[in-house]
Amino acid sequence: MFDLKGKVAVVTGGNGGIGLGMARGLASAGAQVVVVGRNEAKSREAVKDLEGRGSPAFALAVDVGDEAAVSRMAADVERRCGRLDILVNNAGTNIRKPAHELDLAEWSLVLNTHLTSAFLCSKAAYPLMKRAGAGKIINIGSMMSIFGASFAPAYGASKGGIVQLTRSLAVTWAKDNIQVNAVLPGWIDTELTRKARAEVSGLNENVLRRTPAGRWGTWDDCAGIAVFLAAPASDFVTGTAIPLDGGFSVQS
Ligand code: NDP
Repeated sequence: MFDLKGKVAVVTGGNGGIGLGMARGLASAGAQVVVVGRNEAKSREAVKDLEGRGSPAFALAVDVGDEAAVSRMAADVERRCGRLDILVNNAGTNIRKPAHELDLAEWSLVLNTHLTSAFLCSKAAYPLMKRAGAGKIINIGSMMSIFGASFAPAYGASKGGIVQLTRSLAVTWAKDNIQVNAVLPGWIDTELTRKARAEVSGLNENVLRRTPAGRWGTWDDCAGIAVFLAAPASDFVTGTAIPLDGGFSVQS
């Protein structure tokens, strides 16, 4: 039910944080993982980590907001692996400013990195998954898919869009046996949120107070849901948006 032997998984932003946490889960379940990110030194370290878990992993240097680069990525995966079974659209960034201070270039960068990239990568993966007769796409949303935050107008818009893109792709590709789901992480301790802790005063205390589990999530907390959504266990689960948040989204 949870066996991924023989499967090939592309994880965007797989060289650290939530992406690497998910990649570790997929590798441990038997998948070959392709780490996609721009920082090649960081990706090399991630590949070593995944090889240590038994995955014949490799890395591709790709800017996921660039359509031509994403097409090359899909062609490279097809040439080197002959298939693509699992896509995790996880690459992300943030620029923390209120809407009245955010300029168009900043807005576009955040939208491209999260939402446009998920569209481009999913579209590039589709022919390979259709040919294989099955596929799993996991899109990474956020608590900002549900809630608003004064410092995250573009981030929130892109993460809300991720949920709707997920539903749309799930409905469109169900007949091809491709399941598309979103994961909505709460506060996970990563490079991205270390920066947020430095920029948003009181964030650490608020996260600890507001999260019923009473702690930040870890990279390892992200592994299990990735395996579930990538494996036969979830073959009748599609179009969902599943919180991974220690109870953050159900706390009154
Ligand atoms: P990190 O900063 O640790 O990871 C971000 C990853 O995205 C890096 O691997 C980075 O690699 C990659 N990336 C960024 N821009 C691009 C690009 N243009 N092309 C290719 N890769 C890119 O952050 P997290 O692990 O925290 O975040 C991962 C995802 O989870 C994001 O989508 C984020 O919004 C989401 N999320 C995070 C939460 C948290 O609490 N941490 C909560 C909710 C959602 P490189 O720099 O090498 O390109």
